[in-house]
Amino acid sequence: MSAKGWIIVNQDHCKACELCVLSCPRDVLALDTNRLTPRGYHPVHIVKEGCSGCAICAIVCPDAALTVMRSVTAQAVRA
Ligand code: SF4
Ligand code: SF4
Repeated sequence: MSAKGWIIVNQDHCKACELCVLSCPRDVLALDTNRLTPRGYHPVHIVKEGCSGCAICAIVCPDAALTVMRSVTAQAVRA
């Protein structure tokens, strides 16, 4: 099985604390310094390939700002 993930960031809740950035085991998150949320923070975003959809970022977020989506593809198994 091959899994690919991505995140949806609630711009009203993210406060740029970077807990998710520090917790991501794939190191694919960073603050987006080109954008501001309605509250004036740089929101987190995915900066490179490799998100597995593990959801650790969503679990550690103190503001429940992240939703993780995960796509799983079945692969052929060779004997
Ligand atoms: S942990 Fe939550 S509030 Fe903090 S930067 Fe990540 S998404 Fe934003
Ligand atoms: S789901 Fe996992 S791999 Fe993807 S951004 Fe969140 S912590 Fe990183």
